[in-house]
Amino acid sequence: MKKVVLATGNVGKLQEMNAILQPLAWQVVSQKELFSEEAEENGKSFIENAILKARFAAEKTGLPAIADDSGIEVSALKGLPGIYSARFAEELMPAGKSPSDEDNLQKLLLDMQTIPAGQRQASYYCAMVYVEHENDPTPIIGLGRWYGEILHEKRGDGGFGYDPIFWIDELGKSSAELDKSQKNQISHRAQALNALVMQLRRGA
Ligand code: IMP
Repeated sequence: MKKVVLATGNVGKLQEMNAILQPLAWQVVSQKELFSEEAEENGKSFIENAILKARFAAEKTGLPAIADDSGIEVSALKGLPGIYSARFAEELMPAGKSPSDEDNLQKLLLDMQTIPAGQRQASYYCAMVYVEHENDPTPIIGLGRWYGEILHEKRGDGGFGYDPIFWIDELGKSSAELDKSQKNQISHRAQALNALVMQLRRGA
């Protein structure tokens, strides 16, 4: 059975990805079980950062690797937080302290305070990458985008990150009000991983 390393230590992401990868019947291990260092995410795009993470995991383990990079883009903020989603509130933090999901969400609410209804469109974006080995010249890439709007205040307590302020109008719910399995069917990450798996199945 083929063994692949998933370049994430996030348990939620791991479960979600494992479920979608099931048809490939691969043995999937989290990088957390194999090494503890983090790749430097200094790319200018989600795709570049996902490739950096996948190459790093492949280099550390000698295994094929899958990595994702994701974030939220807000039209009124010209695409920010974008690739900076996980550290959006960094400039507001005391030196040496990383912002939490809540810090980042509160900064986004603040930056959006004066933006009226109808101009609050946003989307989650995800790039999911597979490399066969650390120097793979042809990484396989799956992409996903999930459209919504930024709420004025939090709703729901599921999900993580910006989910309590990400409103999906068709469902009449924030992404923090969806149950896990529902989110895992439609999210940017699910779309990207499904797109990746389709390509991998062709080559499997
Ligand atoms: P990364 O892909 O782990 O680097 O995540 C980037 C950041 O984007 C996360 O820390 C969250 O702030 C945000 N993000 C990505 N996906 C989601 C999601 O499904 N819900 C909420 N926030 C997300």
